[in-house]
Amino acid sequence: MGSGYRRALLKISGEALAGNRGHGIDPAKSAWIAAQIASARRDGRELGIVIGGGNILRGVDAASVGVPPLVADRMGMVATVINALAFQSALEKVGERARVMCAFPVGRFVEEFEEGKAREYLAKGHIVIFAGGTGNPCFTTDSAAALRAVEIDAEVMVKCTQVKGIYDKDPKRFPDAVFFERITPREVIERRLGVIDAAAMDILARKLILALVINLHEDENIRRALAGEEIGTTVQETADLGTALERGTDDRRCAK
Ligand code: UDP
Repeated sequence: MGSGYRRALLKISGEALAGNRGHGIDPAKSAWIAAQIASARRDGRELGIVIGGGNILRGVDAASVGVPPLVADRMGMVATVINALAFQSALEKVGERARVMCAFPVGRFVEEFEEGKAREYLAKGHIVIFAGGTGNPCFTTDSAAALRAVEIDAEVMVKCTQVKGIYDKDPKRFPDAVFFERITPREVIERRLGVIDAAAMDILARKLILALVINLHEDENIRRALAGEEIGTTVQETADLGTALERGTDDRRCAK
């Protein structure tokens, strides 16, 4: 492996799998994303993926589907399992070995998440797709991505989005939006930038895991970001890093 990150957690939203359809799964788009990830994996990196479910259902859609919010969240978590199975096939079609591990028991065809097992698969070169979010309502798959990044001891969490990185406001609606090449987690939370949810940002900041926000839709972006090229926004709390180092503690790992 050349320079860059050895083990990474990628967050792919459900919406990304829908392509221009906006809903459901677009096989061509899904195949393209799988090929992008495969190309990064072939550089020798260990890759976990947290996949969202927004292309099928989001908790906030509870009213429109006529169920209580907590039930809608459960439906959203199940939606991520559907996406994970579809994306596992897409990865296999491009020659990768991929596993799906879910935050809650599903049944015979999906393994339940287990940290040690996930690390074993990663070490063997399998791509591990983490489905089911955190397994709890009231969270998003961004929080799941932060959590899994900690649990697999990833060096970086890469949030793959629709735009170049983090802006001070939505660049699709405001042409004068200002782009950040670097920003601290605190600023992301305080300015309510919303591109990564605050709970996820907080977990990553506390565990000193770097977050990168990149545009998923440009060819080779995932590969380039993981090779260490600065193509989007880097979110890093340099001050906290200094403090942790001064304390002489390695705060990256959860106490076992
Ligand atoms: N969800 C949840 N707990 C989690 C992760 C997800 O309840 O830990 C539900 C929530 O309703 C959410 C939906 O699953 O809206 C789909 O996830 P998300 O919105 O994060 O998907 P994405 O926007 O990434 O496609």
